[in-house]
Order: sequence, then structure tokens, then C-alpha cells
Amino acid sequence: MKLRGLLFALLGIGCTAYTPLSDKSLNSLPGPGSDFDIHNGALLAPILTVRVPGTPTHEGVMHHLAGFFREQLPDWKLEWQNSTSTTPATGDKQVPFRNLIATRDPPWAREGDVGRLALVAHYDSKLTPTGFIGATDSAAPCAMILHAARSLDKALTKKWAAMEADGSAGIDEETGIQILFLDGEEAFSSWTDTDSLYGARSLSETWEKTMHPAPSTYKTLLSSITLFMLLDLLGGANPTIPSYFATTHWAYRAMASLEHRLRSAGRFKSSPNHISKRSPDAERVTEPRWLIHGDKQDNQGSLAFMVEDDHIPFMARGVEVLHMIPSPFPAVWHRIEDDGAHLDPDTVEDWSTLVIAFAAEWMDLEGFIDTGFVTREENAGSGKGRREMEGKSELTNPS
Ligand SMILES: [Zn+2]
Repeated sequence: MKLRGLLFALLGIGCTAYTPLSDKSLNSLPGPGSDFDIHNGALLAPILTVRVPGTPTHEGVMHHLAGFFREQLPDWKLEWQNSTSTTPATGDKQVPFRNLIATRDPPWAREGDVGRLALVAHYDSKLTPTGFIGATDSAAPCAMILHAARSLDKALTKKWAAMEADGSAGIDEETGIQILFLDGEEAFSSWTDTDSLYGARSLSETWEKTMHPAPSTYKTLLSSITLFMLLDLLGGANPTIPSYFATTHWAYRAMASLEHRLRSAGRFKSSPNHISKRSPDAERVTEPRWLIHGDKQDNQGSLAFMVEDDHIPFMARGVEVLHMIPSPFPAVWHRIEDDGAHLDPDTVEDWSTLVIAFAAEWMDLEGFIDTGFVTREENAGSGKGRREMEGKSELTNPS
């Protein structure tokens, strides 16, 4: 992406309401285990390779992303949206760009009636410098999204089954979730309107023209996206994320509130106050925050710079955007050092927890998160290893 030296301040306030996650649910969100290990983690390691569109290693990463859904999340609908383009670096050759889309909707819902939370990251890597991995840009965000999809899947199944059982299916507005792994975000030569965002431009244009049959709540595939949450340049230590857009500042604040709650609960492993970083008798230091404008009523005066990234062609077509990208960019941005070794593993994990929490609230999953836990006694006594306690703290549907 590119930073444009343009200050902007927009007016307008959006708002919505959903059930906040209980402390118990928040504390039960699953961690990734070793899946974010940069050397052999099942989710992240296969993405930490060169991913230049049109090359075999790029295709391998695409198969890794798609294979994850096929093997582990079969209830998600997988689609590709393909295009080709010449680039300033590749002459007359048509370079293929393949966006991967994974969608999960309420099973009874008609497609045109489902509004979706989109979790978005680009999976291509930049052609130069040679060997560039793009660990924050955006291998780590892709892995975070895979883990988020997996972590939400069971709760979605439970929630929708409960709604079908109690007859509430189809009464309220329908909410689904969609993962967009976009291709060709990076410029091949230097960033221009035509040498960048290849996948995002093609997808937004195609979806804007793809109509749902009338009558549908959402006229086009594009308008079905109720929030486009874009993750980019994440995974380095100590990021600060401004609130970029007035119309989604309310969503930014919801995320900031979750950050605060997770930090207060000691769940943020990257925190200097985390149990792993501080001796028990040491004094707490001031808790840092990533979403620095969480206390502001609006995003005026956020002094956010305009960042050109995958959201641009979507936003130009009216899609609401929540942009999780640090300002300033990480020091390793577009340098060969943006590799696995320069990620902060705790930060990667904390981001994934925060994204899961936000999506769980958006999907109204309170009461359906598995709050099962293992007690020491059970572990020691059962003789069968792990046994999970389930159901004990399940909340009933608040309606
Ligand atoms: Zn980049």
C-alpha cells in the first residue's frame, strides 16, 4: 500500500448495537497453539514464502489457503474470482490474479438477504526486493484470518442450529461472514492507480455488477458487505492504529473496547504487564494500546493519513471500511527484513484474538462460544488425558 500525504477529517457517525461478549466468552477464545510458528506452524509457515502472482510458490500459498477451508471448514463456500492484467514489469504477458473468497451464511437464508462481515487481507507478495516475504505484508494477517474463521465456525453452527430449533431463523436480518484473500495488491513497478490493487479492483468491479434476484435485501454482491475489515502490515511489535474513517468510527471503538478488556483480563501476551513478562511483585507499567483513538467520540482530529490499500476500490463503491493498518508503517515495510524473524509472535497472536473477539460480537455469538475448560484435577485424575468441561457456563440465548 501507499501512504498519501493528505490529511482528512470526515463528518458522520454510524452506530449499531450488538450483545457484547461476556468476560467468560472473552476469556475462552481459543489461542492458535503452535499454528503461528514461523518455521513449522500449520497456518503461518506455509505463507512465509515469496508469493508473486503468476509464480508456482504463489499458487502453492493459494492452495494452502483453499485447502485449509476444504479440509477443516467444509461448511464454508469457496469461490475464486479471476482476472488477468499486464503489469509495467512483465511486458505483454497477462499475469493471472486470483482472489479467494470463503463465505458462511445462515443455512436457511437466501443469498441476497445476507449482510456480511468481510475479513480481508492480501496474500500476494511484492516482486521487489528479490526474496521479499512480506511477513506483516500480509502473511501474518492471512494466518490470523484463517485462525479466526476456525475459531468462529463452531459457534456459528451452534447459533444457527439453535435459531432453527427455536423458530427464530429468518425473522431478523441475516448476518453472514466472508473471508476475502485478495491477490495482486502490490505494485509490480511503482505504485500507480493501474499498477496496484489488481485483485481488489477486479473483484469490486465484478461484484458491483453482480445483481441478486429481486426482491433481495442487498441489490448486489458488493452491497452485501456490511463491513470490510482490512488487516494489513500487522504482526510487528507495538503498532498504533488510528481511526481512519468517520462512518466506521463506532466499529473502531467496539474493537478498542475489546482491546481494553482483553488487556485488562491479562489476555494480551504482548503486554508488558502479561504474566510472562513481569515478575509477580513488580509494579504494573502503563498499559499500551494499539487502537489509540478508542476514547474519542468521533475520529475528528485523528490526523490519520490517507493510506491507499485494498479498501480503495471498495470504498469508492460505497462499502464501509474498518482499516487495521498501523501508522506509522512498521520499520520493515517493503524491506527484505519483513520476514518471519521480524514478527513479534505475541503480537501476532494478540491480533488474532482481537479479531476473533470483534467478529464474534459482530456475529452475535455470545452464548455460543465454547467456554469449556480443563481443570487440573481432571487432567490428573481421568487417566485419559484432556477432558473438556462443556456446557457448564453456556448462556441461554438472551432473547
Ligand atoms: Zn506491501
